[in-house]
Amino acid sequence: MPTYAKRVAPFGTTIFTEINQLAARHNAVNLGQGRPDFDGPQEIIDAAAAALKSAGANQYAPSPGLPALREGVARHASLFYGLDIDWETGVIVTAGATQGVYSAIMGLIDPGDEVVIIEPYYDSYVPGVRMAGGVPVYVPMHPPNWTFDEAELRAAFSDKTRALILNTPNNPSGRVYTRAELQLFADLCIQHDVIVISDEVYEHLFFEGHQHIAIASLPGMLERTVTIGSAGKTFGMTGWKIGWVYGAPELITGVWRAHQFITFATNHPTQAATAYAFTLGSSYYEEYQALYTKKRDLVMQVIEAAGMSAIQPEGTYFLMGDFSQVFDGDDVAFCRHLIEEIGVATIPPSAFFSEKHRHHAENHVRFAFCKSDETLERAAERMRKLRG
Ligand code: PMP
Ligand code: GLN
Repeated sequence: MPTYAKRVAPFGTTIFTEINQLAARHNAVNLGQGRPDFDGPQEIIDAAAAALKSAGANQYAPSPGLPALREGVARHASLFYGLDIDWETGVIVTAGATQGVYSAIMGLIDPGDEVVIIEPYYDSYVPGVRMAGGVPVYVPMHPPNWTFDEAELRAAFSDKTRALILNTPNNPSGRVYTRAELQLFADLCIQHDVIVISDEVYEHLFFEGHQHIAIASLPGMLERTVTIGSAGKTFGMTGWKIGWVYGAPELITGVWRAHQFITFATNHPTQAATAYAFTLGSSYYEEYQALYTKKRDLVMQVIEAAGMSAIQPEGTYFLMGDFSQVFDGDDVAFCRHLIEEIGVATIPPSAFFSEKHRHHAENHVRFAFCKSDETLERAAERMRKLRG
């Protein structure tokens, strides 16, 4: 009987789908997938609705994206990171950051190229690299502070290394890389002539005492970096699946060549609305951070209610909770226990590690706190049961 390609045989079902199904079956409060249970600003939704009724917006957008949105992405990169991006040759709009990452990998990595991936990583990177024929080389961050070891990082680079995939602020660890950490990445990439695929979808989600730095803004890095963003994260509209990739035209040409044959063009009305979102003033980003600072404090209460421990996240809307004081078993077993017995869904972070380094996360589960205050309070209430 015909069956699927060998290429997809190892992929299985993503952890997000698996946990969502289990959570629904047990009616659990879902702090699993990073799926907000509230929307971004109403005026952006109004802009999308207006776009739906405007002439031309219900037909194909230009393949690289709407000029107004590409201009918005370039303007934002200049305003926040001092980067000089040419909107015409240096920006591609994609179907979410997921397709941005995939198009970047397909457009920049050749079969046999080694790709350094920092763990824990967003789960689409490795299948992407494998589909391109690349070879992942893993460098783990270590608990409890999720820092990487300089010697391990240096050892991962060789003359076969083509690219480094980075994610800061980092899902799921909540880390925001410091300038010194980014400088070390940059030095190694320059030394080995390596490209960076920098996933910065949580660029506006960092908390007091921390600051997101775009690696492309470090000396010598713009020409070797493509940076990825998402309206799902920055403007709170995950269902729109609008993302973007920006960088040096030479690299963006590769991303675009792949993009043309993966989807050609993406959703037109929500591109128009995202272009509008980029015209919101700086107060939007300040309010967004304030909203999530409050939610971060609420999720810390969930941890406390459970008798677990956690390092306060530096950024993103994720937190890694250490359950070793309350449960004897691995992260998958604890997630199952939480859903079935306590009624709260989380994500087992071993899904974001290679087989070899999976043990780094075995005492942790990931909580998403992009949820209404009521949802977070309901979760805290249920988690109290864990104390017995
Ligand atoms: N990268 C990271 C680190 C993420 O957490 C997400 C969220 N799903 C994505 C990429 C994908 O974003 P999008 O929904 O825009 O595809
Ligand atoms: N970024 C979100 C998360 O990490 C959503 C991922 C997904 O649904 N693929 O939970």
